Amino acid sequence: REPLPHWVTEAMLRLEQNSEEAWLVGGCVRDRLLGRPVHDYDLTVSCLPDRTAWLFRDHRLVEDGRKHGTIGVVTEGGVLEMTTFRTDGEYRDHRHPESVRFVPDLREDLARRDFTVNAMALSCRGELRDPFGGQADLAARLLRCVGDPCRRFREDALRILRCARFASELGFRVEEATLRAGEELAGEAAAVSRERITAEWEKYLAGHHFAGALELLPLWEGVFPGLGRLPAAWKEALCQAPSPESRALLLAGGLWEVRHGSAPGGTEDWDGAVRELCAPLRLSGNRERLFREAAGCLALPPAESFREVWRRSADDSPSAYRAALEAAAAADSARKKELDWLSRVESGGYCRSLRELAVSGRELTARGIPAGPALGQLLRELLEAVIAGETENTPAALLALAEQKWRNQDGQA
Ligand code: ATP
Ligand code: MG
Repeated sequence: REPLPHWVTEAMLRLEQNSEEAWLVGGCVRDRLLGRPVHDYDLTVSCLPDRTAWLFRDHRLVEDGRKHGTIGVVTEGGVLEMTTFRTDGEYRDHRHPESVRFVPDLREDLARRDFTVNAMALSCRGELRDPFGGQADLAARLLRCVGDPCRRFREDALRILRCARFASELGFRVEEATLRAGEELAGEAAAVSRERITAEWEKYLAGHHFAGALELLPLWEGVFPGLGRLPAAWKEALCQAPSPESRALLLAGGLWEVRHGSAPGGTEDWDGAVRELCAPLRLSGNRERLFREAAGCLALPPAESFREVWRRSADDSPSAYRAALEAAAAADSARKKELDWLSRVESGGYCRSLRELAVSGRELTARGIPAGPALGQLLRELLEAVIAGETENTPAALLALAEQKWRNQDGQA
């Protein structure tokens, strides 16, 4: 097994040399044992935050989690989060513990964690603490709640969504009682904040084992009522959707069918379907725009020629158009063909934007064409002419065409 990064080991040794315990916990232990890349190292430590901060007083610290016991220590490898052994107090609103309580031992800290595979701890010498059978569940590729699943999901319904997300990322099955509890309590996840829902949802959609995790759609029922009853045809298409964006579009379409009785058809339906899927989420403006644009593409009839695909890919944002085609290709051979054409446009260096034209605005103004809105219009006409096959995308051909168009226009004016 690969050694730990030295900045992690050094921090752990410093704690131990000061008579404190320091254990790696959570995702980094799980991913290490699985041989997956580790993206962040979290430590759980025996000392209170004040002492953690004092022991690392020669480092820059991130202290906004102090109330919950977390001190971030800025190291050369990034921020190393050190959280005091703790349990969560009583839970309010299925989400936020009323208080946290610092505790003296590791086992209690591990007991508050969501799944057995996330409830293991590793020392810097390679000693593993695994009081809940996490290793056995890793080997069996099972997600199982630590403790009684109903109680754990009632305490914090975010765990239900995390369950679906880890299944999609890791390709694990969900243990029987955990799954039953999750389905039974799925409605409680309506209380989770939009930010947290969105973070889990995006990871669920991006999972390498997404197709296998489609049977966990009922776990999302509290966030997207109806999603648990997705018709089989949509699920089949979803199994083939290659990207998170195309998956989101198919889920929007399927959810629309569940709620409105028929698959989305025209622009209004698709726009509505995407809006309904986005409503419980907090997406960035860019991402929401991408989905809205893709919905527009889905409402169009399939393109009938390579050149038409080329033109569409110049009009729409290329990623929105691609997502739409990836979503539609599984169930529709005309769309599959359209997607193949799009891949050819993308890989063949076909000019699709003003930036890719062989002449720039500056070169045109150098030839005496004045800058301004008319220049922008002229460039767009050049792009249109290239796509229509009326000219080659070379400086000489474009300059000649631009001058000709300009003279004509000047003559008209
Ligand atoms: P990732 O690879 O996505 O970071 P992770 O398991 O590290 O996965 P985090 O959200 O970083 O997930 O949380 C770190 C650890 O904290 C988890 O492994 C788990 O032990 C614990 N944890 C996080 N969220 C919860 C929760 N809602 N309920 C119980 N334990 C949690
Ligand atoms: Mg993590």
